[in-house]
Amino acid sequence: FFIAVEGGDGAGKSTQVEALAEWVRGKGHEVVVTREPGATPVGQRLRTILLDVASGGVSHQAEALLYAADRAEHVASVIRPALERGAIVISDRYTDSSVAYQGAGRDLSATEVARISRWATGGLVPHLTVLLDVSPETARERFTEAPDRLESEPNEFHQRVRAGFLALAAADPARYLVVDAGQDPESVTTAARHRLDQMLPL
Ligand code: C5P
Repeated sequence: FFIAVEGGDGAGKSTQVEALAEWVRGKGHEVVVTREPGATPVGQRLRTILLDVASGGVSHQAEALLYAADRAEHVASVIRPALERGAIVISDRYTDSSVAYQGAGRDLSATEVARISRWATGGLVPHLTVLLDVSPETARERFTEAPDRLESEPNEFHQRVRAGFLALAAADPARYLVVDAGQDPESVTTAARHRLDQMLPL
């Protein structure tokens, strides 16, 4: 069973991934927590490059392909093997991040970005995607020192990314749980647990 947790910068993904993993583990499942970019040795090197070029040192197409390379390696060496042995995989970011950031954020075609990712992943789609939705303004208020990306890209970029995520969720509501991530973290976890309770093979 494959769960992706998606959302803009500062949405609280890592907190929610940890909380959900602990809960699912408590039910007796093997849980593999992973993230993009950077979950594999080659992915870590790609992550360094990607964070380096995040504020625009490389063409948008090259950026999209580097994310796709990271994801191809992630699926082949971490996600698929874990799913094949019956583990529950929770990934902090997956394909939707590319459609939202490299597509909507960077103005590449969402269809093309999704197509590259489909090829890179061999068509592996999460059973559930938890979208943590928060306005860039609220995300920024969460930090005394805002993360680089919130500062280095203009507000409009983050607005486009947010709209990109929401459009994906609207197009396939059965596969998404959209949670208002502006609420307190416990309420966000409760909402996600409620949905997972109905879906998990227990
Ligand atoms: O989620 P995390 O903070 O680890 O992501 C690292 C950075 O990479 C973030 O600032 C995010 O904006 C960026 N990113 C991106 N496109 C993706 C995935 C992440 O621009 N497909």
